[in-house]
Amino acid sequence: MHTDLNYIAEQVAHIRAHFNSAVTRPYKWRLKQLTQLRKMLVEQEPAFKQALAADLAKSEYEAWTTEIGFTISELDHTLKKLKKWMKPRKVSTPIIAQPASSYQLPEPLGTVLIIGAWNYPIQLILGPLISAIAAGNCAVLKPSELAPASANLLAKLVPKYLCNESFWILQGAVAETTELLKQEFDHIMYTGGEGVAKIVMRAAAQHLTPVTLELGGKSPCIVDKNCDLDVTVSRIIWNKWTNAGQTCVAPDYVLIEKSHSQDFLQVLQSRLVEFYGENIRQNKDYGRIINNRHLTRLIHYLEGQNVVIGGEFDTQQKYLAPTVILDPPLNSPLMLEEIFGPILPIVTVDNIEQSIAFINRRPKPLALYVYTKNKKFEQQVLNFTSSGNTCINDGMMFMTNPNLPFGGVGNSGMGSYHGKTGFNTFSHLKTVMKRSTLLDPSLRYPPFTKMKLNLIKKLL
Ligand code: NAD
Repeated sequence: MHTDLNYIAEQVAHIRAHFNSAVTRPYKWRLKQLTQLRKMLVEQEPAFKQALAADLAKSEYEAWTTEIGFTISELDHTLKKLKKWMKPRKVSTPIIAQPASSYQLPEPLGTVLIIGAWNYPIQLILGPLISAIAAGNCAVLKPSELAPASANLLAKLVPKYLCNESFWILQGAVAETTELLKQEFDHIMYTGGEGVAKIVMRAAAQHLTPVTLELGGKSPCIVDKNCDLDVTVSRIIWNKWTNAGQTCVAPDYVLIEKSHSQDFLQVLQSRLVEFYGENIRQNKDYGRIINNRHLTRLIHYLEGQNVVIGGEFDTQQKYLAPTVILDPPLNSPLMLEEIFGPILPIVTVDNIEQSIAFINRRPKPLALYVYTKNKKFEQQVLNFTSSGNTCINDGMMFMTNPNLPFGGVGNSGMGSYHGKTGFNTFSHLKTVMKRSTLLDPSLRYPPFTKMKLNLIKKLL
């Protein structure tokens, strides 16, 4: 870990100077860096799996699907589309400005800062990096210190595979990040919690640097009685207990009609056993909590609650069983804070329409899930709630589509990325108008006559 804070300013200045050499602008350079990134993920797959197992006990399957493979798939999409995204984007020209052509020319922003969170420590650094490279930027990367094996591995591998003049990876915690945030960047993408997001935004304001904030919050999951219960329960389990619930787009709580809640709980209980077995603690498919501070936070949530499934924990192993709470007090910390762990509260309502008002009384969530076969209710949810992302009849499956921008709204974040949106986020879409000099009517030049004014009124 680098603690020499002066070194941070020097390094950032160095990278910024390198950007000005224009090396990063050509398609060929971008292609090379992206190809190298892909090579790194493929060649070093075992090392990435090992690091993810050390940090979060991620199974090989999860390490691949949610981190390594997920990132490769974003890379492949980018490699396939990059040439097209870089092209000038033509727009029409009004008659007043004819003859001319008008277009938007994507250009890199410059040197960007990417700050990642610990729960998907590889994907949350490399995903934004793919977009930044595609757009032709230099980047400084700051992985989360809470996932040290992944951060160490990235710090070791990135310089081996990518251009060292264009990319720099800094390991560190608050002191290092604070120093980093004093430097001037052309864009900051931050993934993490709300509190630090405010620090990032304040620091960015000193340089008028634009920010993309990928945050979290309490993502609701509405289960209508008119749904396919079997499929619904399986998908909720997958969405909630992947990475032991430490997923920004995990359902934070379920909203369900009282009359339907026991059926739901019964299927949930038996499906959990089917998926993870009777002894979940021994099951290698189930992850661990990142550290004891977070485990303690989660255990506190259980105090005074009606635990209907799970609740067992083991601090030595940083293990907390898949846990379900029925009807928690709405003013308890469990229902006021983002859970970000394997606890699923079930909140019962008298009729499912009430769930819309319940959601609207709270900050806008990152994700909202609704399981229903009722098209009218589906439309009501879509039209009368606001969320970063909504998925109907599934969980975080929407993340697999690079054509869907990913990001929050309100308290769950600002800006978005993935696919072309990520390219746009790290680009400035410069407007260009190219005029012909063949015609130059005197209409806009003095002396201004009544006739000129009448004519211009018709043209503008
Ligand atoms: P974290 O503790 O890893 O912090 C995120 C980053 O902020 C780290 O790199 C850390 O070093 C830095 N940081 C911490 N304190 C700082 C300070 N005082 N000044 C400057 N930098 C500082 O992660 P976290 O905040 O625990 O992340 C969890 C949150 O992130 C949850 O709310 C979750 O929903 C959200 N999240 C969102 C996404 C998304 O894509 N929208 C993805 C993952 C997590």
